[in-house]
Amino acid sequence: MDFTFNEEQEMLRDMARKFTQKELKPIAAQIDETGEVPRKIIDQMAELGFMGLAFPEEYGGAGFGEVGYCIVLEELSRGCASTAAILGGHVSIGAMAIYLAGTEEQKQKFLPDLTSGEKIASFALTEPGAGSDAAAMRATAKEEDDCFVLNGQKTFITNGGLADVYSVFARTDPGTGTRGISTFIVEKDMPGFTAGPPEKKMGIHGSPTTDIFLEDVRVPKDHMLGARGNGFRVAMETLDVGRLSLGAQCLGLAKEALDLSILHANAREQFGGPIARLQAIQFMLADMAADVYAMENMTYKTAWMCDQKIRFSRESAIVKLFCSEALGRVVDKAVQVHGGMGYMSEYPIERFYRDARITRIFEGTNEIQRVVIARHLLKNKRF
Ligand SMILES: Cc1cc2nc3c(=O)[nH]c(=O)nc-3n(C[C@H](O)[C@H](O)[C@H](O)COP(=O)(O)OP(=O)(O)OC[C@H]3O[C@@H](n4cnc5c(N)ncnc54)[C@H](O)[C@@H]3O)c2cc1C
Repeated sequence: MDFTFNEEQEMLRDMARKFTQKELKPIAAQIDETGEVPRKIIDQMAELGFMGLAFPEEYGGAGFGEVGYCIVLEELSRGCASTAAILGGHVSIGAMAIYLAGTEEQKQKFLPDLTSGEKIASFALTEPGAGSDAAAMRATAKEEDDCFVLNGQKTFITNGGLADVYSVFARTDPGTGTRGISTFIVEKDMPGFTAGPPEKKMGIHGSPTTDIFLEDVRVPKDHMLGARGNGFRVAMETLDVGRLSLGAQCLGLAKEALDLSILHANAREQFGGPIARLQAIQFMLADMAADVYAMENMTYKTAWMCDQKIRFSRESAIVKLFCSEALGRVVDKAVQVHGGMGYMSEYPIERFYRDARITRIFEGTNEIQRVVIARHLLKNKRF
């Protein structure tokens, strides 16, 4: 068993940490305030190779796999959860659907622009009437001559409007439930494709979330991802990666909240000395550390499983469930350690508290993760 990161991975962490320190942390509050991650930041991430980190070199990626990608997501999340969410929407689910389900031709055609950051990707599954019950989707794709004609509305789409390429799910066949759904690569300049305005949200303000409208969008047949009727499976396999990567986002936020809490506990004086000498504060820090340690271990072990091509569907649901709830506990304690300052927008902890909340909802709510985990346990009749 070897739990050490190799030299290349350590260099990658160092690069991501420097970028976060120099470029993200100084403007994270401004991003939260204005609701926009400057394009310059996305371009810089592209230059550093972050947009294609997880993918093999033959598609223009950096070949770092899921472990390397999680290292970068973790570091970015320490500075700005919105920026990490944009990268997550692009890599973990948007481009990932093409990588996992695309033909060699589709991968060669679409991935190089995405891995270079020339174009941005997004993943459009959710609809107003189909959230946790994704199979209730109503968007349709009707076969006509040389194309499929897509109609419908998608909602809460990360990178909506910002992205150039969308992995879109729609019903090709009248079957019910998970049957009859297919996946399509839809490009933003296709006539009939529009994105709504960005939603106003509790947190991750700089990560655009919009509706997507499809009105008679004619998508060439060679833009279908995976086999016809296999869309639900494409969505679930992609979300396995998304949920795992979300663990790294939670980990980064939690580590930063803990480090800021340690700093504050040492600096803040009450009753004639630093609050760090109080056992009440020490116990909160210790509980936060225990959560962070568990998050770190399960995230990287599962990323390693993904890279080794070991099945990790159950594990990624556990990572998503545990890390998002552990993050909730950590940021709550971080606010408490900071006292009144933790409630003030002037300090990052207040933003962390808001940014953390979404992690229990998107990529499948935590109730759905429990359903997934329990299904695995009951099917296999053991852990
Ligand atoms: C900021 C943001 C970004 C997002 N980005 C994307 C994106 O990029 N692409 C995309 O496709 N979607 C995206 N989503 C959608 C997200 O995945 C859904 O919001 C989520 O899956 C929940 O669906 P819902 O909001 O319809 O809630 P609902 O499904 O209506 O759930 C409401 C409540 O009921 C519970 N519930 C529902 N069914 C069950 C069940 N069977 N058992 C137990 N409890 C249940 C839920 O857990 C929840 O507590 C995003 C959402 C947000 C808020």
